[in-house]
Amino acid sequence: MTSLAPDSGAPFGTARPLTFQLTATAADGSTRARAGRLATPHGVVETPAFMPVGTNATVKALDPDDLAEAGAHMILANTYHLYLRPGHERIARLGGLHAFMAWPRPILTDSGGFQVVSLAGLREIDDGGATFRSHLDGSTPRFTPELSIAVQEALGSDIAVAFDQPVAPHASSRAEVAVATGRTHRWAERSLAAHTRPDQALFGIIQGGLEPDLRAASTQAIAALPFDGLCIGGLAGDETAAQRAAALEVVVPLLAADPRPRYLMGLGSPGDMLEAIHQGMDLFDSVLPARVARNGTLWVPDGRLNLRNARFLDDGAPVQAGCPCRLCRGFSRAYLAHLFRADELLAYRLATCHNLTFTLDFMARARRAIRAGTFPAYRRSMAPDPNPDDPSRSRSSDTQAGAKGG
Ligand SMILES: [Zn+2]
Repeated sequence: MTSLAPDSGAPFGTARPLTFQLTATAADGSTRARAGRLATPHGVVETPAFMPVGTNATVKALDPDDLAEAGAHMILANTYHLYLRPGHERIARLGGLHAFMAWPRPILTDSGGFQVVSLAGLREIDDGGATFRSHLDGSTPRFTPELSIAVQEALGSDIAVAFDQPVAPHASSRAEVAVATGRTHRWAERSLAAHTRPDQALFGIIQGGLEPDLRAASTQAIAALPFDGLCIGGLAGDETAAQRAAALEVVVPLLAADPRPRYLMGLGSPGDMLEAIHQGMDLFDSVLPARVARNGTLWVPDGRLNLRNARFLDDGAPVQAGCPCRLCRGFSRAYLAHLFRADELLAYRLATCHNLTFTLDFMARARRAIRAGTFPAYRRSMAPDPNPDDPSRSRSSDTQAGAKGG
């Protein structure tokens, strides 16, 4: 547990709720991968780090003990979902999000921008805000930067995120990207002006789609503002891995001298995260490992196992020999395959425990390699992706294999 720390590296202000210190970088320029230490009001997070997603103030099927055992240090909760249900004011009355969900470690809340624009029935968006149709009751609330910040302050997350307008990177026209990016910059300033909670950090979001000049301009505009960290948004969507890498190649050199943490939003396959770590990213989040687990897909060092396949019904081996997770310690592939075929609830918990343990262990190995100066060799030791330009490699895809060696 780390209490509020005085300014010791954050670029602005005299006392920040968050500090970030780099602990290892490559001196020879062979990689931009870096290890760091992010100190928040609810504890320290070693980076690069992966945040499991607790959409409704729970990582589906797990309790906080399961999460901690899997190696989670910081999780993400969704502002949009908690605003609609059970309501941020109710959570505040009940002591804030940490108390409400009994998670004492750091929490990052997103801004709601992605859900408002992508998931909800968006009705109207202009410089004032975004009006959408609730997926729960059909009501049409209006999200603004000021409301997003107020909701996140009521939830009491360690890190809040400025309200933005993301667009699908590959499917959007240059004009659409330009409008959304300009709006995101204006909303970033309004989010900063609205933010008052001294024990909560605030991150800004860089947009700009896949257009190099717009991405560069957005990087400079957001980095010029006194945020505590920088999110790279509008990726991990429908773009190819090569397009994502090109966008990061625009962003990261512009931030070379910037001391703040870099958070690539929405990326969750180990192979994709490894490349983004190589390009200098520090934080990640995704529903992917948990979602594919609930579908019966278990990530292992050689790829993936589909436990709904009948060939596992007589397989007495653990899903992954030597894995320390709750599933692999006590149960066989045959038992898990049976649970999935019988639609037993325990299947979801055990499978999710494994995939999150796998993903978080993968990040821990990457951190150790960076600190040891062996990250380039570690990265080369992974099997090359047979089809790196497959656009199905999105945050919602369940076709991705776990990375070799994770
Ligand atoms: Zn396991």
